[in-house]
Amino acid sequence: MALRLSSGSQKVRKRLPRPSKSGGMLESLIYMARNAVGRVNEMSEDIDWDSLTFSLTPTDTMYLTETSAEDPWMPGSLRPYGPIPMSPAAGVINYGQGLFEGMKAFRTSKGRVVFFRPEENARRMQRGADRLKMPPVPESVFIDAVEQCVQANLKWLPPTGKGAMYVRPLLMGSGPILGVAPAPSYTFLVYVTPVGPYFKGGVNAIDLLISEEHHRAAPGGSGGVKAIGNYAPGMMPSKKAKAAGYAEVIYLDAETHSYVEEVGAANFFCVKDGVLYTPELTGTILPGITRNSVIELARHHGIEVVETKVEASFAMDADEAFCCGTAAVISPIGSITKGDTKANYGNGTPGPITQKLYTQLVGIQNEEQEDIFGWLHEVPV
Ligand SMILES: *Cc1c(COP(=O)(O)O)cnc(C)c1O
Repeated sequence: MALRLSSGSQKVRKRLPRPSKSGGMLESLIYMARNAVGRVNEMSEDIDWDSLTFSLTPTDTMYLTETSAEDPWMPGSLRPYGPIPMSPAAGVINYGQGLFEGMKAFRTSKGRVVFFRPEENARRMQRGADRLKMPPVPESVFIDAVEQCVQANLKWLPPTGKGAMYVRPLLMGSGPILGVAPAPSYTFLVYVTPVGPYFKGGVNAIDLLISEEHHRAAPGGSGGVKAIGNYAPGMMPSKKAKAAGYAEVIYLDAETHSYVEEVGAANFFCVKDGVLYTPELTGTILPGITRNSVIELARHHGIEVVETKVEASFAMDADEAFCCGTAAVISPIGSITKGDTKANYGNGTPGPITQKLYTQLVGIQNEEQEDIFGWLHEVPV
């Protein structure tokens, strides 16, 4: 049984040497065994926890399992983090048959290690698998995979309040296929990385630009699932906006170009006269787990929530605005620019409702607030 973390006590353990790239099965097994024995609730001394951003820090161990299109998923295994061999004709490389998830594990103020609503990520990946004609990963396999991955990389889990372990499950058609059709076999992989805040500058309000030329998702398409192919088309508009001094773009709906859909890869909210508004889920909006949590939290605290079509002009006339997601948490929006018009919210600091929701959400995640909704899932360590 591992040690419970009491804040401040950081025992130091040197990293185990990694197996060589050409490492065979035996070497991998030895590595895994030693890693398991050495697995205690310690933190790496190789990281400056205060300077973590939302970027990739490679960790030691990943999880992988494979299946054919017909067979059920079997539990996979841990192995050293690193490249995976894949056919040049793999469905995912050729036709984008792939999904990702994003979730976080936290060290709480009570010394526990917890996931935030991981079952929701498992279910969302199953819905995505249906849409992309992949075999859905059972919830039990998904949860076991993400737990094992966090346990095996525990020393990379940031201290309470300094960030989180970002967990990235991937499901992809890894078998070879030439015709445009579902791949013959599939890989479910999980890797983890410690992360700090998503937007540089922490809780400072961000400036956003409404994209006039591009849309994220069209009705009937794949915008409602975390299909990997949804994200590359957003990179050019996002880069352009960043070069012009904005943190991200806001996408409007593809049909009428009048309703707010999302902020890059985060969901949008605004507050007007004490009421919280967010774009309703029409199929083109990703059903964020943070979005759902914010709605439940707000209602619990007596704030009226309206899920509806949110006109860009209405959003720009609101009192507060923020975006949210696992990575972004709750990020206050300082301004929205559309063409020549710029709408400012407050004085660059979060509005009162944004602040309240942020405090409640983060409070539950780090166990400074009671987990009244039962959102935390303890990872045994
Ligand atoms: C992942 C994602 C979100 C946020 O979802 P969470 O479950 O809250 O992390 C929002 N929009 C898009 C497009 C996403 O990919």
